[in-house]
Amino acid sequence: MTLLSFAGSPHGGSHKLLPEWRSQPRISPVLILDHSIVGSAIGAWWYFHDSTGIEAHFIIRGRRSGSRDGHIWQLMDTDRQADANFRANDKAISIETEDDGDPNVQPWTAAQLDSLKWLHSKLVSIYPRIRRREATDCDGPGLGYHSKLGAPSCWTPVVGKTCPGKPVRVQQWRRVLLPAFLSPLSPEPKETDMFVLRCDQTANSEGRALRLVNAQRHRQISNAERAELLHEGVVEYNLTGHPGLYDKVLELAEEIPSP
Ligand SMILES: [Zn+2]
Repeated sequence: MTLLSFAGSPHGGSHKLLPEWRSQPRISPVLILDHSIVGSAIGAWWYFHDSTGIEAHFIIRGRRSGSRDGHIWQLMDTDRQADANFRANDKAISIETEDDGDPNVQPWTAAQLDSLKWLHSKLVSIYPRIRRREATDCDGPGLGYHSKLGAPSCWTPVVGKTCPGKPVRVQQWRRVLLPAFLSPLSPEPKETDMFVLRCDQTANSEGRALRLVNAQRHRQISNAERAELLHEGVVEYNLTGHPGLYDKVLELAEEIPSP
């Protein structure tokens, strides 16, 4: 049985267990999937409570909860199945997040992002099989979000589902939550010697014959930003000891026409 201690959680947490919290089948989690409720935390809790067969492991409260913004509720033993993730129910831990009814355009609050990061890390520390990677298929392992593999997909039978919210929350997931998950100990140092060029996928990783789609040039870049960019077909140069190379590469890049 695993009920979390919320000591160290940035906005606190508590156990608010559903009737089936320890009667569902046992699971061995390898995946974390983030969700949005499309509504209030307390409304979702009662919905889970009254509609047998549907539940999530956690709910993170949001702006409409006022001073409780960011507070985490644990609803289920994480060693037991929560039925929010379709065919991944037997391997996924599900985290719901509160919103004002339209999570496609309403971002996660700063408090919710803090709590999501904390909870993701806490779960990895308890379940090492979750692994710090982006989940890219049905069985994980790693961190994903509900509609990440499409809708319908093995994670949802619902056509057109955008959970946890496209575009806004999905962008936050990719820009904030995933990089934090991939490099948890990074205190966001700026890498002054790393130079990142975003290129098309045919670009040569040796740094030659660059065909720029969109020249995103970063001289000062955090490890979290690097982790995000490296998922998008990016060439990275280490300029340590050769600071003049930065200007030289930019000059060359200007000469190459965009396709
Ligand atoms: Zn969902």
